[in-house]
Amino acid sequence: MENKIIMDVHNHSDLSPDGRNSPEEMIRRACELGISYYALTDHLEINKFYDEEYPYEEPVKRASEIMPELIAKYDGKINMCYGVELGQPLQDMALTERMLSSYKYDFIIGSLHMCSGWDDFYFLDYGKVDADMLMKLYFEELLEMACWGKFDVLGHLTYPLRYITGLFGIRIDMDKYLPIIKEIFSTLIKNGMGIEINSSGLRQQIGVPLPDEYYVTLYRELGGKILTIGSDAHCTEDLGKGIAQCTEMAKRSGFEYLAFYKNRVPEFIKI
Ligand SMILES: [Zn+2]
Ligand SMILES: [Zn+2]
Repeated sequence: MENKIIMDVHNHSDLSPDGRNSPEEMIRRACELGISYYALTDHLEINKFYDEEYPYEEPVKRASEIMPELIAKYDGKINMCYGVELGQPLQDMALTERMLSSYKYDFIIGSLHMCSGWDDFYFLDYGKVDADMLMKLYFEELLEMACWGKFDVLGHLTYPLRYITGLFGIRIDMDKYLPIIKEIFSTLIKNGMGIEINSSGLRQQIGVPLPDEYYVTLYRELGGKILTIGSDAHCTEDLGKGIAQCTEMAKRSGFEYLAFYKNRVPEFIKI
């Protein structure tokens, strides 16, 4: 089916510091677009939980209250689950454990936006910091996250390239990271977890999904079966963007199914 948006399971509402629309506005737009499987995955940045500018306690709690209501309200119109984008889960393990036992998420994207002790890749000046050193730290922490194993899919693998290459034009020799990327994939597979294709890169300077086709194919060749697709929209206008291209990419990489999570269990959707 051409241009059909099967799934968009990585989205942010104004229950994220950088989201613009309310959860219900996002859901209504998802219904208008005819998206079959949908998830809001507002940020839960573990290492920034007590941040003065944006404390997470309240919005995270609010999401847990309204999502079951919204899922019930839109039942029959859209298949929806209660998700979260869990950032830097290893950087405060006690807090992560408390969050995971407090909230009954259907679907958890595990993300790394900043290495331990560093600011978000988005804020760094790659004219001043050693991008290669950071890439090494990035993949090492991702591997630790995969070993820890308490999320469902790994969010936007190659996220730092969005800024290092996309914005600063610095080319990274990715070949040297191939062994650790393979190890990350193998660990995820062994632990019953998966990856996402994040289409946001298609509407940014980097111009490719995160990760790109090469890595999605590699994941498949290593035995990866669990794959989700999300636009990482932070406003209604970006909802569903690039999903059709990423679905085609998934098929070219050898996938026949995408995963949709309910109560942390994947259901496989034919593409
Ligand atoms: Zn993210
Ligand atoms: Zn996101």
